[in-house]
Amino acid sequence: MRDSTVIVVIVGAGPSGLLLALLLSKHGIPVEILEASHQLDQQPRAAIYGSPAIPELKRAGIIDEIRRRGMSPTSVCWRRFEDHSRITGMEGDILADVDGEDLRMACLVLDQLDQLMLDEYLSKYNGKISWRHRVVGLGQDQDQAWVDVETPEGKKKVYADYIIGCDGGTSTVRKCLFGQEFPGFTWDRPIVATNVYYDFTKFGFNDSSFILHPEHFFMAARITRDGLYRVTYGESPGLTWEEMKERQPWKFELMLPGHPKPHEYKITSMSPYKMHQRCAPSFRKGRFLLAADAAHLCNPWGGLGITGGFVDIGGLYDCLAGIWDGKADDSILDLYSEKRIEKYETIINPVSQSNFRRVSDSDPDTLLERDPVMQACKKAENDKALQKEMFMSAFEVSLARGISGDAVPLGHRLIRSVVWAYPGELPLNAKYHGDPASAGATLTFKRGAPSGVEEGRRAGSPASISGSPSVGIEDVSAIKGQLDPVYEAKARVLNRAVQDIGMGWYQWQLFIVVGFGWASDNLWPIVTSLIFTPVANEFLPARAPMLTLAQNIGLLAGAMFWGFGCDIFGRKWAFNLTLGLTAFWGMVAASAPSFAAIGVFAALWSFGVGGNLPVDSAIFLEFLPGSHQYLLTILSIDWAIAQVIATLIAWPLLGSMTCQQTDDSCTRRENMGWRYFVIAMGGLTLLMFVARFFFFTIFESPKYLMGKGLDEEAVRIVHEVARRNGKTSSLTAEDLKACEPEGYVQRGSASAAVKRKLEAVNLDHVRALFSTRKLAYNTAALMAVWAFIGLGYPLYNAFLPYIQNTRGVDFGDGSTNITYRNSLIIAVLGVPGALIGGLLVELRGVGRKGALSLSTALTGVFLYCSTTATNSSSLLGWNCAYNFTSNVMYAVLYAFTPELFPTKDRGTGNALTATANRVFGIMAPIIAMFANLETAAPVYTSGALFIAAGVIVLTLPFESRGKASL
Ligand SMILES: Cc1cc2nc3c(=O)[nH]c(=O)nc-3n(C[C@H](O)[C@H](O)[C@H](O)COP(=O)(O)OP(=O)(O)OC[C@H]3O[C@@H](n4cnc5c(N)ncnc54)[C@H](O)[C@@H]3O)c2cc1C
Repeated sequence: MRDSTVIVVIVGAGPSGLLLALLLSKHGIPVEILEASHQLDQQPRAAIYGSPAIPELKRAGIIDEIRRRGMSPTSVCWRRFEDHSRITGMEGDILADVDGEDLRMACLVLDQLDQLMLDEYLSKYNGKISWRHRVVGLGQDQDQAWVDVETPEGKKKVYADYIIGCDGGTSTVRKCLFGQEFPGFTWDRPIVATNVYYDFTKFGFNDSSFILHPEHFFMAARITRDGLYRVTYGESPGLTWEEMKERQPWKFELMLPGHPKPHEYKITSMSPYKMHQRCAPSFRKGRFLLAADAAHLCNPWGGLGITGGFVDIGGLYDCLAGIWDGKADDSILDLYSEKRIEKYETIINPVSQSNFRRVSDSDPDTLLERDPVMQACKKAENDKALQKEMFMSAFEVSLARGISGDAVPLGHRLIRSVVWAYPGELPLNAKYHGDPASAGATLTFKRGAPSGVEEGRRAGSPASISGSPSVGIEDVSAIKGQLDPVYEAKARVLNRAVQDIGMGWYQWQLFIVVGFGWASDNLWPIVTSLIFTPVANEFLPARAPMLTLAQNIGLLAGAMFWGFGCDIFGRKWAFNLTLGLTAFWGMVAASAPSFAAIGVFAALWSFGVGGNLPVDSAIFLEFLPGSHQYLLTILSIDWAIAQVIATLIAWPLLGSMTCQQTDDSCTRRENMGWRYFVIAMGGLTLLMFVARFFFFTIFESPKYLMGKGLDEEAVRIVHEVARRNGKTSSLTAEDLKACEPEGYVQRGSASAAVKRKLEAVNLDHVRALFSTRKLAYNTAALMAVWAFIGLGYPLYNAFLPYIQNTRGVDFGDGSTNITYRNSLIIAVLGVPGALIGGLLVELRGVGRKGALSLSTALTGVFLYCSTTATNSSSLLGWNCAYNFTSNVMYAVLYAFTPELFPTKDRGTGNALTATANRVFGIMAPIIAMFANLETAAPVYTSGALFIAAGVIVLTLPFESRGKASL
């Protein structure tokens, strides 16, 4: 059945399809996009959009945002290979103000531009896009056109008045219309495109530089504000991708200024490409039209690809809008095809070819003498007026007002050269003097008689399509590039499949067993804290805080080992082993014969504990639907409950079976309580381990399996989870396979997994978190807050029982029994703290910032107050208040922190704050060792740290309550 509301169907959600969808929707023309993939293309491709594309991006209402998120590069030059000195070039800043318009080039990496356009299309125009809709055939009749589409629900036909092929270089629409006919040629020189951090500015490089050499030619163009460069260079024909990768360090050392060794730069992606110069025989066949890469291809030297594609789109939009408004009949679409082919043949094709020939010229030393473009630039170097004249010659198109009714004249787009940057090559006949609108006919949509294609004709079957030789710029890179975007793409498919299953029985069970990990994470540091005094009494160590230090080192080592390990040997093992090891070493610790031994065992059990949060949260998040993310905050209640249970068991065991503070000596026999206590805690952890291991079948993470190359197994698990939830999933192994370009080889090795993990903390993300002043402050302030709390919390907690004991003695009721009873009362107060934290963050007028600042500062204030206590009851009261507010603080801190980092850099942000927290945690016992424990010094220090953290929170530049994440 035809969806009568859809007038234009666009095949492909690449940059051209999205821009057209945006322009048409803005004009009120109903559009649907069909996209074969399940998401936008993530591969690193275009980044710089030439001046001719700027008016189109402006008409779509996105140019300001593009410039805000990206850059406006202006300078282009050619350089010598030997010393990288500048030969000549152009300064496009003259285009910053052309009759009040900023026509400078714009730079924003393609995936970000696509996302921006998609967001606008969806949010502003309620745009329609169908993912996983692969066009495999087409047809048309008197009244309409249609495409045959493969969807997850099966095959279907989608009808429209006009169907636009924006499906890229390997366009199915083009192949269906013209078979394998795509005249042109493929260059025999392969090129390699890399994104690399290297300080080219040290060598006087600006925005874009072309370095001339017959063999080692390359281009270096800055593509992000934080200094990422696109370096594209020529390679020898006949090399395999493996060989190209091997040669890359040698090529860089040879070519780049400063001749850097690999440790002096950082490559974030790397891709080999074949280059093509090809153009379809026509951009129109009846109700079908082609645009951008689907219609024509050129090599990427000079960035004419989507720049030309955007100009196609602007012209096509004008034509369709003209027909829609009744100002033109559909013969104007023939004009579109004719003029855009002319622009390809006369400008895009020759200019891009000479761009490539220039940079790879066989005699670069004499090029300036032979090359009119370089000569023109040289001449204009010190002559602003001449520069302006050169640039403006490309704008001299004076046509009738655009039929779409927009302010930009139609001819401006239909005819405009796409090579303003290369005025020397602008052909004289680049002007069109006809007025398309004068055709006079007023045919509207659905009334135009299509021509050329018979009803239901299938010019290319799906089989012949897949078997055809590839055309277009082959983005093998993405496949084999260092960041493995195929893994990312597949991970998204899996995420979506899991999201589609939704919350069910499996996740609720997981919620419980993951809670064990959360409980263990707090339980064992509390064990260390609770046994601190009896252990010190029995062994009389010279430096008692060594015990806390051993624990904190174990925690850090565990967090790192399991964090990486769960990507190498699987989540399932890590999930169980962390608890198993903790239980084992905890119980072994009961037999410790010396202080050194208990220190070693504390480090070993903490090694298991350290893995709980990274592994459990990874497992939980991988199965948790977005609608139930709040459960992560609720998990913090397990922390508080663990504290209650630990102190409850500690009370009888430590309270009555350990030496009294007043005892002169303390023998092992009199002090067995702490040993029974660690056995009890080990036993409790063992129970949690058994419950996890024997009573709950945890499925291996589909993402981990897919990373290992076991796609079918990953899909099986998704179906298994769906089955357990009483649901079904439509995910198939083909959906994952669809993310793999031809020839892709899965890297399932452990080193690939580690590389991916390291990627989360790579410098790109770190730089992004510091890219603007506001973001930099946000990141630094959050790290400081976590560091201060990381230092303040253990500093105080580790010595709380000690303080209580010694103070208790001062106050005359220093019985160990009372000490542990008080610890229990304090722990109970933590439970409502965690819950109230969850409520406060949503409270209007308080928000996350208010709740966090207040609870953190109050935690510090109550610590100070506790030093003023003159009897046990008031000390208990202040400690209860402290534990209550610190639990509120933790609940808010855990929920708030991730929201304050931009999504794409969130993993890195979380890692930075967690590291700050753990590293400062290690410093706590070291400080305590040199502080006088007989005084309230550690308490003062930690109180000050909390108050400082509370003040810093107030200065955070963002508040996330009621807003989507950054
Ligand atoms: C390394 C490199 C650097 C470049 N740099 C620049 C630059 O700086 N400036 C510049 O102007 N150009 C540049 N280009 C060229 C530019 O990237 C391309 O011209 C541009 O991506 C083409 O956009 P498109 O929308 O036509 O096609 P694509 O970006 O290829 O998008 C096509 C879309 O159609 C979908 N699709 C495909 N087949 C089907 C089907 N059968 N059914 C449904 N959907 C389908 C695809 O999944 C994809 O989403 C560069 C290219 C490369 C490789």
